[in-house]
Amino acid sequence: MLPSKYIRIIPHPGRPGNLVLFSLKRLSLIVLPETLLPRMYDGSLTDEQSELLYRLGFLVENTSSEREEMLRFFDRINASRRRATMTILLNLDCNLACPYCYEGSGKGRHYLSPETAAAAVEHAVRRILPSKDSLQINFHGGEPLLSLRTLREVAEQLHLAANSAGKKFTFNLVTNGTLLNGKIAEELVPLGLSGVKITIDGPKRLHDLSRPFVSGKGSYDLIVGNLKEYAPLVNVHLGGNYTRESYLEFPRLLDDLLDDGITPAILRFVGFAPIASTFSEVSLPDSPPGCCTSDEPWLLEAVPFLREEIIRRGFDVPKPSHAICSIETHDDIVVSHDGSVYRCPGLVGRPEYRIGDILTGVFSDIESHCLGNWKTEECLDCCYLPFCFGGCRLLGAVKDGSMSGVDCRKAQFDATLDTIILQEILSGRA
Ligand code: SF4
Ligand code: SF4
Repeated sequence: MLPSKYIRIIPHPGRPGNLVLFSLKRLSLIVLPETLLPRMYDGSLTDEQSELLYRLGFLVENTSSEREEMLRFFDRINASRRRATMTILLNLDCNLACPYCYEGSGKGRHYLSPETAAAAVEHAVRRILPSKDSLQINFHGGEPLLSLRTLREVAEQLHLAANSAGKKFTFNLVTNGTLLNGKIAEELVPLGLSGVKITIDGPKRLHDLSRPFVSGKGSYDLIVGNLKEYAPLVNVHLGGNYTRESYLEFPRLLDDLLDDGITPAILRFVGFAPIASTFSEVSLPDSPPGCCTSDEPWLLEAVPFLREEIIRRGFDVPKPSHAICSIETHDDIVVSHDGSVYRCPGLVGRPEYRIGDILTGVFSDIESHCLGNWKTEECLDCCYLPFCFGGCRLLGAVKDGSMSGVDCRKAQFDATLDTIILQEILSGRA
């Protein structure tokens, strides 16, 4: 047997003479005496040791079988996934005027029509639900709660359809948090509301500058007041967008929230993300953890620093995990307010990446998305592959004009991943 290509080996900071081994492929972790490492490579471990390390993914039978396993990574995920996710952009309107808003000039009074909403429901019921055990809708905007009536109608119909088919239906809101309160949450939970992602851009003074109402008034007090009401009812993921100038002040936001009674017991996850100037042409929408990346030098310090500050205060952060870009997963679609269909919220409004129309039900292939652009010698040889898979297609397209090239994150992983793995161990989370 041979060591896997996709492992990190890090000296244990608290136990001299020991190493931390982390498998990016299996997400497993083990602490080993460093004397065992050469024996992993020369094949002189005992059968029992080899068996354990094989089971945890640190040893593999041979290089070609591991390579084959990686090449089929998304085939396996797609074959075994019993849940489909559909993102619906209810509007492109907003009651806030954040200077960095990713919708840019596309923002305005554009709303999902009743016909388009009905077509999205029809698509979910006829083309997604029959082959899945559960359906999750992510309601995005603009600000989705400016479309509360449509949101409620779509959720009610899908809740009923899923119930009568014996399937599970849940939905999440990606909201600025100004229009959600305890009463609305109480009304939406029985329809399937399970998660809310909100954004607070630092302590009150910073946030009010970064996320003001259209009138110019600050939104911090209202968002935090609302959060206290609904946080006990749903899983809340608190996000926040920082800059090189603001990130050092974000720990103070956490202290202010704790003083306000918003504790780890009622906040599911905290994870802040940069507004990175490298990609000034495009800011990522609220995307799954891991979508956003940059190797700007200040970020390589900011990312582990903020993670540490969050963990130190007892809040939960997403664990280091595989990069699952929705472009590689079958069945996941994004329906824009005008019925256009895409594979990622960040691609909305880019006609070259429009893959269908929910009103006509006509879908095209996604050749332009260059599936498997990471199936190169360089990526297959790279230990970070399971956490990267070629990075973000959207950012790759912004940089190179097409999705054929990768958005390489090597420098970022080199600078941050080992620290993040050690944070997991030293905080007792692993
Ligand atoms: S292209 Fe993929 S990785 Fe990039 S934002 Fe969209 S889903 Fe995330
Ligand atoms: S894009 Fe870069 S970091 Fe990602 S797997 Fe390929 S070589 Fe590794």
